[in-house]
Amino acid sequence: RVVDPVDPQAGVFRSIETLAAVDPAAVAIYETYGMSVAKQVGGWLQRLGGLFLRMLQMVAVPLIITSLLTGVLGLGSSQGLGRMFRRTLTYYICTSMLAITTGLLVVNVVRPGLKDNVVARAHPDAHEAESLINVLFAQLEAMIPKNPFAAVVDSNFLSVIAFTIAFALFTISVGGKTAERIGDAAKAGFDVMMAMTMAIIKLAPLGVFFLIAAVTATQGTSVFMALAWYVVAVAVALAIHSLITLPLILKFIAKRSPVEFFKAMSPALLTAFSSASSNGTLPLTMSSVEERAGISNRTGSFVLPLGATINMDGTALYEAVAVLFIAQLHFERNLEMSEQIVVALTALLASVGAAGIPHAGLVMMAIILNAVGLPLEMQGIILAVDRVLDMCRTSVNVWSDSCGCAVIEAFELADAPKPSTE
Ligand code: ASP
Repeated sequence: RVVDPVDPQAGVFRSIETLAAVDPAAVAIYETYGMSVAKQVGGWLQRLGGLFLRMLQMVAVPLIITSLLTGVLGLGSSQGLGRMFRRTLTYYICTSMLAITTGLLVVNVVRPGLKDNVVARAHPDAHEAESLINVLFAQLEAMIPKNPFAAVVDSNFLSVIAFTIAFALFTISVGGKTAERIGDAAKAGFDVMMAMTMAIIKLAPLGVFFLIAAVTATQGTSVFMALAWYVVAVAVALAIHSLITLPLILKFIAKRSPVEFFKAMSPALLTAFSSASSNGTLPLTMSSVEERAGISNRTGSFVLPLGATINMDGTALYEAVAVLFIAQLHFERNLEMSEQIVVALTALLASVGAAGIPHAGLVMMAIILNAVGLPLEMQGIILAVDRVLDMCRTSVNVWSDSCGCAVIEAFELADAPKPSTE
């Protein structure tokens, strides 16, 4: 006899225990039914939320191309500022790598995605870790696409980024009318892509609702515990970077009081926090740096616009933590060292490619997930907490750009001709 507890005709059972007492065989069927209903509803919710994720994926490639082109072409007008450019770039790369390292250290200690597994189990589809040299070679090869158009079609982000940067650099070297036209077209494309991305981002609350409901329906609520640990990991790592690493750089390299500088920058930092957009904050960052922190216009107007586009310490750190968290959930193990190095390098690229608008870091994360073989759909899990983390990481992005101004200014002043030396 088959009793279907989902069917009201079959009788009412108050609890699974009562049912078990009457008909133990029915319990198995109940479990199957219960599971399949949840699975089916979960599947629909997942597809609804998936529409939102698809939109994010849709804008990723054109957004990266136009954002990078505008960013790199923007450097073209700064000829003669070669030394300042090299210094600025060195500062950006060093601080972003420091931020990523901090993020990786914290996420390896906290292990937010492995919280309820005392012993990390090997997931059935966990792949063998590649040797470091193989992994690095593969990344290097990806940076030289045999066919850049195929790279665009396949959303091969690393190839797209490498080709776009090369294209932009050669556009600068060709110069003249050509560079001007390409620059104008890139800027126009970027404005449109930004508008489209912002419109999609407005749908985020709806997307979050569907995706979280889908996760809850299929996996229960344990995922929230993991999410809470993930937020803690990102927050702690961001705090270490912004309250320890950057102030130390300010103190010992720029020879400035971190507290004073922080106070001077507070209007910009608060705006960055509330708007979650470095681009939106840029005018305020520039005026705070020049009028409140006493940095020259020459340094501020060079370092800050460039920084708002390519220097995102907070975003880089967040990318690294988020991808490791997703990997922990998906593979049920921590990523190997070689994989973490790939994460670090691609996180740097993702932060460079991210536009200074809300949630841009989330869109760019596809680059890293792609590089370490994680399904893009896993992003749905972290969507729910992305806004609050975005506010925090954007403040760190702006804080790092501002500290960069102080560092570059200190070097420039040291280089200024002094009557008594040499
Ligand atoms: N919202 C960040 C910014 O504007 C970018 C990101 O999403 O990480 O700086």
